[in-house]
Amino acid sequence: MRYAEETPPVFTLTAGPVDAYPEVLQTMGRTVLYDYDPAFQAFYESVALKAQKAMDTPEPPLILQGEPVLGLEAAAASLIAKDDVVLNLASGVYGKGFGYWAARYAKRVEEIEVAYDDCIDPETVRTYLKDHPEIAVVSVCHHDTPSGTLNDIDAIGAIVADAEALMIVDAVSSFGGMPGGPGSCKAGIYVSGPNKCMGCPPGLTLAAVSEAAWAKIDANPDAPTASILAMKDWRYAWKRTNPFPFTPSVAEINGLDAALDRYLREGPEAVWARHALTAAACRAGILALGLKLWPAREEIASATCTAVKMPDGVDAGPVIAEARARYGVMLSAGRGVTAGKLIRIGHMGPTAQPIYALAAVAAVGGAMTALGHDVDLAAGMAAVTARIDADG
Ligand SMILES: *Cc1c(COP(=O)(O)O)cnc(C)c1O
Repeated sequence: MRYAEETPPVFTLTAGPVDAYPEVLQTMGRTVLYDYDPAFQAFYESVALKAQKAMDTPEPPLILQGEPVLGLEAAAASLIAKDDVVLNLASGVYGKGFGYWAARYAKRVEEIEVAYDDCIDPETVRTYLKDHPEIAVVSVCHHDTPSGTLNDIDAIGAIVADAEALMIVDAVSSFGGMPGGPGSCKAGIYVSGPNKCMGCPPGLTLAAVSEAAWAKIDANPDAPTASILAMKDWRYAWKRTNPFPFTPSVAEINGLDAALDRYLREGPEAVWARHALTAAACRAGILALGLKLWPAREEIASATCTAVKMPDGVDAGPVIAEARARYGVMLSAGRGVTAGKLIRIGHMGPTAQPIYALAAVAAVGGAMTALGHDVDLAAGMAAVTARIDADG
């Protein structure tokens, strides 16, 4: 049998957007309250406080009304002043992309760039900052999703803080799926969204802003206000007695509430553990198929996305299409320079369950076999269950 392109897949094992948690979708269908209804104002405050708990921040993170690209662009617009020199760290498509936003607002953007299967060495950042004391802002992507690779943002953040610069972190596809948060990496602005590991549909940004970053934003005459990019306007909007800069996305906030409840009830450690085990089982299966991981070293492979390198001469596109048509399993392609070269299996939120690794490895291995590529499907599947079982 074949699954038609027009029919939804059986499993969405993508690197985001993810298949949302059922309770999130149910909650989004709740009554859409008027934003100045006192019941909504009280509810919004309670959601902001739950987000604060989840992100473990001294004040509630901003909830901006657009998927996290809005938050990233707003962070650049708000924090970076005209006379700032920014150091952008690029180890993948998203890290590189942030530099283009930064360049719109900064006097100058410097860059440390490494191969997109590798990560930034914190020591090179230390040396760079020592040699360039004029750098005011450092930007980095935690998990560069199109590569499935991680940067050590806690180590980089400590170095940036020592140099008295402020760090903007893109933690869109890592927050909620692995240890760490705005505090442990000493972020100035830490941008995430509920549409990856929190299991919501795309539509909101969560952004934690430190005290020092607020001071810099307040001192930046060009920080936007009365704009969709304005972080400033939302700082105190979480208080039920304060006005909203504009109408919040009520249904999305309803969904976020359910996602936060779920995350806090299950417990962050337990959530991170199932992401880690799913990814470990997936990597074991991929390696046993006889394929290679895209990340240069397994230590930098993400717990929320496994990037599988295609053998030389094999285009990822037909393999992804075959996996969907043959098994109804939707996987992600690469992006930019990784397009065609790899397949990404997402383990985010609802799909961070070890058994999904079996479906993913079966789909990749089966599709490759069908297309005439040499993989050991049985070994791959056995390795997945062995890795799950080894966890006890
Ligand atoms: C998903 C994601 C974003 C949001 O961007 P989209 O391209 O709109 O999905 C930003 N940064 C990272 C690292 C992401 O994974």
